Amino acid sequence: MRHEPVSSQDLERLQVRAMAFRDRVDDIVAMLHNNEEGEHPPREHWSQLSAADAASRVIAKISEHNALRSDIPDWYGPKEQLSVQVAFHGATLMDEADWLLSEVEADKTHSHPCRCDELRSILDQHIQPALDECQNLLAAIEQLRHLAPGE
Ligand SMILES: [Zn+2]
Repeated sequence: MRHEPVSSQDLERLQVRAMAFRDRVDDIVAMLHNNEEGEHPPREHWSQLSAADAASRVIAKISEHNALRSDIPDWYGPKEQLSVQVAFHGATLMDEADWLLSEVEADKTHSHPCRCDELRSILDQHIQPALDECQNLLAAIEQLRHLAPGE
């Protein structure tokens, strides 16, 4: 039973942000690795949905997911799940940053223009801001956990 409707709204808002963050990470991974012009199935763009639509889809997905797992421990509530998801995608992002830097490092014969320049600009313009969002999002989830523990 939810006794704090404001807090569950906040949770939904963070869940929507987490979905948008995941899409952002997917886009960055695609940017880095889709040199072979593969065909990609059209994906849902969360940013184009209204907040209410996005929230209800998130909730549907989460309950779908939870239905598959009957052995979730008590302490592992929606906020903990969210935090784990965001941290997971953040780790993916850091792996990509590592990979990118090692690619740039490994290039001893830079051409003009060089792929390294493109990689560096992806790092500055996409990966770095996404890592900032990751940190903000994790901090916001953490704050919510303290405001309404045990929900
Ligand atoms: Zn280079």
